[in-house]
Amino acid sequence: MLRHIVNFIFPPRCSGCGALLPLSSKELICGECTDEISSYELPPVEYSDCVLISSALYRGAAKNLIKEMKFRNVRSCTRIAARVMTDSLIKHDESFIPEMIIPVPLHSSRKNERGYNQSSLIAAGVSTLLKIPFSASKLRRIRNTPSQRGLSPAERVKNVKGAFKARGKIPANILLIDDVATTGATLNECAATLLSSGARRVLALTFAKT
Ligand SMILES: [Zn+2]
Repeated sequence: MLRHIVNFIFPPRCSGCGALLPLSSKELICGECTDEISSYELPPVEYSDCVLISSALYRGAAKNLIKEMKFRNVRSCTRIAARVMTDSLIKHDESFIPEMIIPVPLHSSRKNERGYNQSSLIAAGVSTLLKIPFSASKLRRIRNTPSQRGLSPAERVKNVKGAFKARGKIPANILLIDDVATTGATLNECAATLLSSGARRVLALTFAKT
C-alpha cells in the first residue's frame, strides 16, 4: 500500500533517460535504455597488469545511470549495472573463472561522506549473479588520493601510485570491479597491488568506459 502511494507521488522514472515507467516496473530503466546499454561491444583494453572489459561507453543512458547511482536510486542502478556487466564478462571470456570479486576501494573518509561505495555494491551484485564470493576488505586504499579528474594520464598514474594495500591471502584469479574506467590508472594500480600480493591474473570489469 505504502509503495503504491509513494509511486503515485513519485512515479518511477528511467535512470537512463528520465522517461516515466509503468508503476509495476521492478527496475528503474526503460526498454530503450536497456537496449542502448547492452548494444556496445567494446574491445578489451590491455594494461600492464590487467585486461579491462567495459560494458558501455560513458555517455547517454550509461552516463545518466552512473550519475543516478551516485546521488539517487543507488540499489536499482547498481543492480542494473551488475547484470549488464555480468553479461559482458560471460560474452568476453567464458573460460575465466575468478575465485574472488574485489571492488576498487574508496578511502574510508570518502566512504563516510557518501555512506557507501557504489563499486562495492556493484561487486556484490556481480557476486550474487556469478555465485563467486566477493570481498571488500582484501584491498584497501591506504592513501586518500585527490580526484583523478582533470589530471593527465601520466599524472593519474602518479596520483594513485602506492595508494592501495592488499590484506590477507589473495586468490590467484581476481575479478576487479569499478563503475567507470578512464585511463585505467586506478584499475592498473589495484591490479599491480593484487599481483604483488599473490594474485596471478586480474581481470578488470567496469560498467562504463570514457
Ligand atoms: Zn530510458
